[in-house]
Amino acid sequence: MKNLDSNYDVLVVGAGIVGAFVSRELSKYDLKVGLIEAHNDVGNGCSGANSAIIHSGYDPNPGTLKAKFNALGNPMWDQIADELDIDFTRKGSLTVALYSEQLPLLADLVQRSKKNGVPVRLLNADEVKAMEPNISPKIKAALYAPTAGIIDPFCAVVNTIENAVDNGVELLLNNKVLSIRKENDYFIVKTNKKEYKTKLVINCAGVHSDEIANMIEPIDWKTTPRRGEYFVLDHFMDGFANHTIFPMPSEKGKGILITPTTSNNYLLGPSSELIDDYDDVSTDKPTLDNVKAQVLDMVPGIPLNKVIRVFSGNRPTTTRHDFIIEYAKTDNHFINVAGIESPGFVCAPAIARYVVEDLVRNVYSLKENKNYNSRIRKHIKINKMTYEERVEFIKKNPEYGRIICNCEQVSLGEIKDVLSRNAAPTTVKGIKKRCRAGFGLCQGGFCQSKVVEILADYYNVSPLDVLYDDEGSNILLNIIKEGK
Ligand SMILES: Cc1cc2nc3c(=O)[nH]c(=O)nc-3n(C[C@H](O)[C@H](O)[C@H](O)COP(=O)(O)OP(=O)(O)OC[C@H]3O[C@@H](n4cnc5c(N)ncnc54)[C@H](O)[C@@H]3O)c2cc1C
Repeated sequence: MKNLDSNYDVLVVGAGIVGAFVSRELSKYDLKVGLIEAHNDVGNGCSGANSAIIHSGYDPNPGTLKAKFNALGNPMWDQIADELDIDFTRKGSLTVALYSEQLPLLADLVQRSKKNGVPVRLLNADEVKAMEPNISPKIKAALYAPTAGIIDPFCAVVNTIENAVDNGVELLLNNKVLSIRKENDYFIVKTNKKEYKTKLVINCAGVHSDEIANMIEPIDWKTTPRRGEYFVLDHFMDGFANHTIFPMPSEKGKGILITPTTSNNYLLGPSSELIDDYDDVSTDKPTLDNVKAQVLDMVPGIPLNKVIRVFSGNRPTTTRHDFIIEYAKTDNHFINVAGIESPGFVCAPAIARYVVEDLVRNVYSLKENKNYNSRIRKHIKINKMTYEERVEFIKKNPEYGRIICNCEQVSLGEIKDVLSRNAAPTTVKGIKKRCRAGFGLCQGGFCQSKVVEILADYYNVSPLDVLYDDEGSNILLNIIKEGK
């Protein structure tokens, strides 16, 4: 066969958080695993555009896969964050009732939490005000869920895939799957680059998972993108919102929230709107105006003059209204892990364990990878060091003393470190996701040109060829003066 790549035992399609954990879980075994991704970097789907909450799990309807995997996934994150060096804090969440007519629903949520096995406490208005001094004076009561957490979603995906690659998984970027066919006992997975041969396919393609599933058989479900738009606030005074603050949930989901992030910013959002274009992550004023109105109702003093960015992500909502984690109807060597909408991030490690230990093990005899290492090399973070620690460290490692991003205090040493790892970035956005250079108040206004230079030097290419993100997103278009 022309241009056919070597045989794989398993090909995982989609390098979001689900494909990341599925690959890492597979790397515990002696298997040849490939992780195929259409983009030039990992985590560029909805795993890089969400609220980054490790949900406690009180909210999903009891008995659903969402409820099951949320309850299993939430407690896994302390160990994962430690092994994979991911910023993670259990801040707790408050679901607030601002109106008397919401109080019965709050009582229902307590019952739902019990059924889901999630610890919660009902708080009266005074208790909520003590925990959240900026909450609306209309507050009547709230449901407190202490096990809810916040996570760095970008490093969660990147570091998990780095670890999977450290353990032998092959990352196949820039490979968009176009078709899949079965030939004898193998699948031939055709991408825009080549054809790959594999015994087993695991479909983790997010909002595109219905297209991938449809490549081998007709399916009776469909994904529809449900867009969520956000504001990002700069980091400023501590304590503005100490917890993730949710409104009362509705049929549209958990609602528009206010949350601190692991980088001490705040997120306001997301909206919830069904759209047609799977990849349309634009934002619009009327939707964002509605986000503003909703969050101001919960916390009237939000300093909206601190907004530094807006963004959106698309949830892969399916016609089944739950996760789809099962063999294809006609072939148990094709596994769909589809429609993983919220709370999919928190669920991903538990879903991956189920997929590998139950579904893959059922069709393969799994032999342990004796060299498996669950940890990645720790990151050096200059902005987390005391002044004295910095001075000592920089004496021995001068590149960590050259600050590239002033807003987020990111040094050349940190950028060079991520470039030297497995699953390394090749774009400006890739550096931003891994080290936060360009995430601050100036949004890359000062550091972006330096990051372009660093990437051009590292990969020995012209700065004109350095991309911000996907193909065609070159930052520099022409040389207008001689010299560098
Ligand atoms: C607005 C919003 C808020 C959310 N908030 C939370 C939250 O707070 N907590 C939580 O737990 N969950 C949250 N979620 C849900 C969570 O983000 C998702 O469940 C999770 O990221 C899904 O991961 P995934 O790997 O399935 O999909 P994705 O991250 O979208 O990854 C799929 C990957 O497949 C690739 N792909 C697609 N088609 C192809 C192809 N043909 N060939 C090759 N590659 C392909 C894509 O490029 C992409 O990289 C939120 C989601 C959204 C959108």
